[in-house]
Amino acid sequence: MKINTKGRLSFPGGVHPPESKDLTCESKIRPGPAVKQVAIMLSQHIGAACQPLVEKKQAVQAGQLIGEADAFVSAPVHSPVNGTVKEIALQSHAILGRSMAVIIDADPDNNPPKLPCSEFKDGFDENKYSAQQICDAVREAGIVGMGGAGFPTRVKLEPNPQVPKETMIINGCECEPYITCDYRLMLEWTNQIVAGVKLAKKAAACSEVIIAIEDNKPQAIEVMHTALKTHENGDNIRVVPVKTKYPQGGERQLIKAILRKSVPTGGIPPMIGVLVQNVATAAAIAEAVVTGAPLTHRVVTVTGEAIANPGNYYVAVGTSVGELIEFCGGVTEPSAKIILGGPMMGIAIADLTTPITKTTCAITVLTKEQIGKAKFAGRQTPCIRCGRCLEACPEHINPTKIAHAVKNNLLDVAEDYYISACIECGCCSYVCPANIELTGYIKTGKIFLARQRKKMPE
Ligand code: SF4
Ligand code: SF4
Repeated sequence: MKINTKGRLSFPGGVHPPESKDLTCESKIRPGPAVKQVAIMLSQHIGAACQPLVEKKQAVQAGQLIGEADAFVSAPVHSPVNGTVKEIALQSHAILGRSMAVIIDADPDNNPPKLPCSEFKDGFDENKYSAQQICDAVREAGIVGMGGAGFPTRVKLEPNPQVPKETMIINGCECEPYITCDYRLMLEWTNQIVAGVKLAKKAAACSEVIIAIEDNKPQAIEVMHTALKTHENGDNIRVVPVKTKYPQGGERQLIKAILRKSVPTGGIPPMIGVLVQNVATAAAIAEAVVTGAPLTHRVVTVTGEAIANPGNYYVAVGTSVGELIEFCGGVTEPSAKIILGGPMMGIAIADLTTPITKTTCAITVLTKEQIGKAKFAGRQTPCIRCGRCLEACPEHINPTKIAHAVKNNLLDVAEDYYISACIECGCCSYVCPANIELTGYIKTGKIFLARQRKKMPE
């Protein structure tokens, strides 16, 4: 049965920036560089940071556990290479500034490029594994949400008898401009993703799974639909095309678009019986359960007009951004901004030794010319109260009031306007004709509030 690839489901608000995916959407996944050194962050997930389990000068093997925490919300880390621990030291971290990492010198003669698992055939049978076996394998492999948030997947999957999870949404939207790694995964690792989806459904005991894909990816919609044979089996797993709009891939927006349900402000999807997983996470689940392989590599889109050979690369976690850009032929024109992630929600970095983590889906390099043309580069003028930022905000908060409060150091007022509900999508800044960097003010306000809370006595 053919599927209609046009998607009408959507959410209120949002924007439609230029997609710019043509640079890499035809680029098949290729092995990344044979790295000389990796820096494995001990904190690359939401939750407790890992403690190192190795020492300076210790030999390590590819796949070896090198960091772990006792806390329930955490995820262990493993070495992606055979090599020797150089040191355990502070390293540039895109979000935390600097954070502890295990630095490993790779053995140049004993690190063949790793290729993804290709053992997944049509008709994968998840019933060979118990729900407990799946959860254990996911935990031991250190799998976290690979779409950006980095929440430990085992914690998400484990059933909670008080709030059963009814629906699992597999996020294949990839709504950020430029990024195509999930698109290529859906086209090339289709059976592996389907296997991971079936395993995750079993572990979480969900009654239905919806694979959501934006309708600017008709080929991915068709390939996934055909692989699922939705019309032939009773798995209750189906593909649903959704409208192409940013930030359709935000989990709150996706739930609203597909299920017409709202996640409470400050809450999480399991509170309403929903679980959202990314397609890359599903592929990692399959590999971990079937082969026992930990999460040591991931697909990263390296993109931007300035990159000589943009594409999708299967890269060792811990590879430096600089080494990966060099592997892609370097930059061909003066670059102004290097972003971990995409241009809307990504984080600009200044230090090229910053390593790829389990949640890095892309490196986007913008040129000086692009930055010069960008709205944010224009001179900021006073707010003209046009209301465009309110219309664009998918969380229905008031970006201009919050930004104004933060600017005037009125953090309690910013809280009254629900600053914590902001998902930092950047839509408000994108539409503002006065070039006010609203999202920047809001992010700053959140940092100040977090610092204030830390200082508060118990
Ligand atoms: S206020 Fe936050 S959630 Fe709303 S548009 Fe701006 S960045 Fe997005
Ligand atoms: S979009 Fe900009 S100018 Fe318009 S109301 Fe919001 S902050 Fe003011």
